[in-house]
Amino acid sequence: MCPMNCHPTLCGVKVNIENNRVLSVTGDEKNPCSKGFICGRGKASAEIPHSPQRVLHPLYRESIHDEFSRIPWADAFDLMYQGLKNPRRAALWAGHGAMSNNYGTRIYPQLINRFANQCGALFWDPSIICWGLGAFGLHLTGLTETTSGIELADHSDLIIIWGADFSSQPLTAQHVLAAKKRGATLISIDVRGNQTTKKCDENYVIRPGTDAALAIGLMCVIVEENLTDEQFIQKHTVGFDQLKNYLVECDLDDIASNTGITTSQIRSLARQYTSAGSSCIILGGSSIHKGSNGWSASRAISSLPALTGQVGRPGAGLGPRHGGWPHGSKFLDISGQKKYKGSNEATLQMANFLQKLNNKEIESLFLFGSNIASSFANTNELKKGLRNLPLIVCHDLFSNETSKEYAHLLLPSTTWLEEIGCKRTENHLHLMEQIQKPIGEAKSVYDILSELSIRLDLTDFNIWHDAETLVDHVIRKISDNSLNIEELRKNGGHGKLNVGTTAHPELIFDTPTQKLELWSRRAEEHNLAPIPISNLPAQSHEAINDQSYTLTFGRTMDHFHAFYNHGRAIPSMKQPNQQPAITMNREDATSLGVGDKDVVVIYNELGEFTTSVRLSEEIPRGVLWSRSGWQGLNQITRSDSVIGNTAIRITPVSSGQSSFVSNVKIRIAKTTEKNIFCSKQ
Ligand code: SF4
Repeated sequence: MCPMNCHPTLCGVKVNIENNRVLSVTGDEKNPCSKGFICGRGKASAEIPHSPQRVLHPLYRESIHDEFSRIPWADAFDLMYQGLKNPRRAALWAGHGAMSNNYGTRIYPQLINRFANQCGALFWDPSIICWGLGAFGLHLTGLTETTSGIELADHSDLIIIWGADFSSQPLTAQHVLAAKKRGATLISIDVRGNQTTKKCDENYVIRPGTDAALAIGLMCVIVEENLTDEQFIQKHTVGFDQLKNYLVECDLDDIASNTGITTSQIRSLARQYTSAGSSCIILGGSSIHKGSNGWSASRAISSLPALTGQVGRPGAGLGPRHGGWPHGSKFLDISGQKKYKGSNEATLQMANFLQKLNNKEIESLFLFGSNIASSFANTNELKKGLRNLPLIVCHDLFSNETSKEYAHLLLPSTTWLEEIGCKRTENHLHLMEQIQKPIGEAKSVYDILSELSIRLDLTDFNIWHDAETLVDHVIRKISDNSLNIEELRKNGGHGKLNVGTTAHPELIFDTPTQKLELWSRRAEEHNLAPIPISNLPAQSHEAINDQSYTLTFGRTMDHFHAFYNHGRAIPSMKQPNQQPAITMNREDATSLGVGDKDVVVIYNELGEFTTSVRLSEEIPRGVLWSRSGWQGLNQITRSDSVIGNTAIRITPVSSGQSSFVSNVKIRIAKTTEKNIFCSKQ
C-alpha cells in the first residue's frame, strides 16, 4: 500500500525491487479497493528508501546548538532509558510518519500508548493536531458511520462536497464522478474555488467559519417549508422540539448575510437536499474544523440528515471522510491499563501540552514520525518550551524542522517496506510484508519500544514477542477472528472485512439515547450548547474595512502531512513545495499594491510569516488560503482550546485541537526580508 496515508483513500501499489533496491512503485490492479489507481504522490514514494537525505544512523548532540554526531544504538538506548527514568515527566507522541505502515489498524499509535501507559509516561493523542473537533461534533449528534464510496457511485442522487477536497481523497473522487456520470448532482460548499469545486454542478463559496450557520439556515428552511421527515424524527431522534424553537427564532436573511451567500441560494440548496432520493454529504476533514467554533460545523451539518431521514439507506448520510469508518468496523485497543491513574489527564488538548511544556512539567519528549514544530498551533510558544527540554528524541526517516532545531537524539526509522505492518481501507485489511532489508541502521517503532521495555522491565509490554505475531493479533482482533495473517497471505495480502456499505443500517446510534441527538444532555452538562447553533466564529468578517484577513488552510495534490519533511525530501515533490505561497483575492491585493508572486509578510499578535502571493478570483475578499505545513505558518495560528477539559471527554474518540484561528494583516516585505526569504528556499 502507498505510504502517504490519504485516508479514506489508501491505494495498493506494486513495488519493483532488485537487489534490495526499489526501482519503481506503480498502481496495483489486484488491490480490491484502489484497482490500479495511483497518483503522483504515490509514484514518488519510490524515491524515499534510497534518498541521500535519509537518516541512516543514530545521531546525538548534547546541546541543540551543537552539530549531530553518529553514536551506536546501545548509547542511544542508554540516553532514552535515562529520559524515561522519571516517566511522569516524559511524553510520547506519534505523528503520521509512524502510521505509514499501519494506517487504520493503529498498530503503532496503540503500541506507543501501551508503552506510555505501562511505564507511566504521558501519551498525547495524535488527533489533536488534526480533526478531533470534527469527531466531537459528529459524536454529539451520533452520526458517526460513513457511507461507502461504492454506494456514492451507485446510489447517491445528490452529493454535497462540504469543505472537502479531492486532493485529500482521490479515490473518493472517482466514485463521486461515477455518480455524476450516472446523473447525480454535485454541489460544493467551500471557502474558495478549487479543482474539486470545478467538477461540481453548483458552487457555494461561504465565509470561513460559517459552515454551522449555513447548516442552521438550511434547517430553518427545512422546518419552515415542512421538508422534514416527521416519521424519522419521531422514531430516531431526540430534541426536535428544542431545535425547532431555536430555528423559528433565527433570521434567515441574517444567516445568509453572515455566510456570504443569498437567502434564495440557501432556500434552493435546502430544497435540493430534501427532494433528492438519496442525498449524501462528504464532510471535510481537518481544515473545516479549524476555528474558534470548530466543532459546531460537524454538529450542525450532521443534524441535516437527522431532520430529513437521509440516514440508514444506500447512498445517504455522510460519505467517506478522514477518521470515519463504515458500519460494523472494529477497532484495536492494546493500550492496556495505565500505570498511574490520572497520568494522562488533559493529554487531549494542545493548549495543555503547551502549558505542561512551558511549566517545565515535561523533561523528555519522544516523537515518532512527527514534526510538531511545524504542525502545532502557535509554534513560537511551543518552541520556547522545546528549547528548554533536556531531551528530545525524534525517530524519523528524514530530518525536519523539529529535529534540526530541537532534537538531541535523531534516530533512523525503517520505511514501510522494511518492516511488517497492516493497513485498513473501508472494507479490507492489507498485509504489508517486509520486502526490503532495513537500510543503514534503521529500526522500527516496534524494535525501539521492545528494547526499551526490556531495559525498563515492563514485562507485560511485549506479550507478542515478535512483530509478526503482533500483526496477526491485530488482524484477528479487527476482523473479529474471521481473518488471520496466513489467510491474508493466501489471498494476495488482502482480507475482506465484514462491514457494511450503508451507514447506520439498523438506525441505532452511538449516543446515550441510541438515537440521533438534536438536543444533547451530555453537551448541556458540560456547558456547551445542547442543540446545534450557528455559533459564528470569534474572528471578524469585516476584513475589507480594517484590512485584516482570515487565513484558511487546506491541502494540495503535491503535499500531504508533515512527513518526508513536507515532501521536500522527495525530489519530484520538492519542486512545487519549495516556497511558501498563499492565495489572495485579486482586488484585495490591488488595494494593498501587492502583485502576483510578490513577497509579503503576514502578521498578527503571535508572530509573522513571510510568503509569496498567488492572486485569484476564486477566493473571496478578506480571505487568504494556504496549504498547511509551510515553515513558519503556524507561528500565526492560535493555540487556545475550543472545548473544556472535561467536555472533551464526552465522546469516545474526540480530542481537542486548538482553534488555529488566524486573523492577520499583510505588508509588503522589505528588501532584506525578501532576500532572506529567497535565500532560505
Ligand atoms: S491517492 Fe494517496 S494513497 Fe493513493 S497513490 Fe496517491 S498518495 Fe498514495
